[in-house]
Amino acid sequence: MVSLEAVFNNLDEAVFLFDKKGRLIFINKAGEEFLGRSYKEIEHRQFRYLFSDAKDIAMLVQKTITEGRSFNCKEMEVDIGRAANIDLNLSPFYSDYDSTETRKTSWGVSGAILCIRENLTLTEREDYHFDSLLYLLGSIAHEIKNPLSGIKGAAQILRASAENSEAEECLNLILKETDRLNSVLHSYLTMTRTPVFNQLNIHEVIEHALKVMKTSIEEKKIAVNKSYDPSLPNIAGDESKLLQVFINLLKNAVEAMKTSKNRTMRISTRPSNEYMVIYEKRGAGKKDTKTKKQRWVVVNIEDTGAGIPRDEINRIFLPFYTKKDGGSGLGLALSKKIVRDHGGIIKVKSKAGAGAAFSIYLPLQVTSER
Ligand code: ADP
Repeated sequence: MVSLEAVFNNLDEAVFLFDKKGRLIFINKAGEEFLGRSYKEIEHRQFRYLFSDAKDIAMLVQKTITEGRSFNCKEMEVDIGRAANIDLNLSPFYSDYDSTETRKTSWGVSGAILCIRENLTLTEREDYHFDSLLYLLGSIAHEIKNPLSGIKGAAQILRASAENSEAEECLNLILKETDRLNSVLHSYLTMTRTPVFNQLNIHEVIEHALKVMKTSIEEKKIAVNKSYDPSLPNIAGDESKLLQVFINLLKNAVEAMKTSKNRTMRISTRPSNEYMVIYEKRGAGKKDTKTKKQRWVVVNIEDTGAGIPRDEINRIFLPFYTKKDGGSGLGLALSKKIVRDHGGIIKVKSKAGAGAAFSIYLPLQVTSER
């Protein structure tokens, strides 16, 4: 005899069952993956708690239970600790037993069944193309770098013997622009290099990034509040790549606070034991999710800047997405790739006008995996 639970666990759709009081009484495996939490952790938790940031879902569950109505929604943008795009189906269920199935009650709505199918978000779809794009960028960067060094060298020689100030000015411009191009190429080449893992102290990498950003932080009069957990063990990571991630995030935070009155950046670290949904690609277009219970080192970087509007938050990790004049739109896409190459993830929480908080989860050792 096949158990009903086994059937539900084989569904791609996340299925949640709430009792009349809105408490979770069943969740299938896809549901656990969707929330990134195990049933053990959230059994009997209220739907308002589970969907505390996804107020639209919570409101619909409430209506289903109190009014006995069904709902169907397509392409809903929700926040479940990460931005997700979902199709949702909600129905009341009726029985004359209470949720523990021990006591007969009068016939009526006994709770709600919530089914969620997650659509591949734009960002995840783009991930599949990003790796090949990086390969292409790396190859082009490599080809340009050598002739560019030649151009710079020749311009330096010419400048040394420039006959008038106009020629000198032009040569200075050539040198300035070749330097700018060089730093772009350098970042493309760093992107494409395979990470080399060594034991490292994450606080030292953050401090190094702060040193690099020191001048801009001081110029903009930004207060930096640090709260490091000194008990964090070393992690395996590529120092120069992680340095690049922190520089990108600090740079974005500094730029986001350009017009803020209160300019504060808060950097904190902590250990964590959370369940996390890791996306692993399996060939073109196919999505495979995996829930990992793992020990993490978490680095939070919060700012009091302009924040990110809700409809943009899904796009900020896309390559070439930028809202800045002269921005490359590669900082976050690259940071996400580097963190992913370390087996970690980046989360962001933000609202327009209310600053942004980026959390980088980097794995310690794996304790269990499913
Ligand atoms: P770039 O900095 O070149 O624009 P990024 O990939 O680093 O590229 O960032 C993409 C976009 O994400 C930025 O243009 C900005 O609109 C938004 N963004 C990133 N970080 C923040 C932040 N801390 N606060 C507000 N917006 C941010």
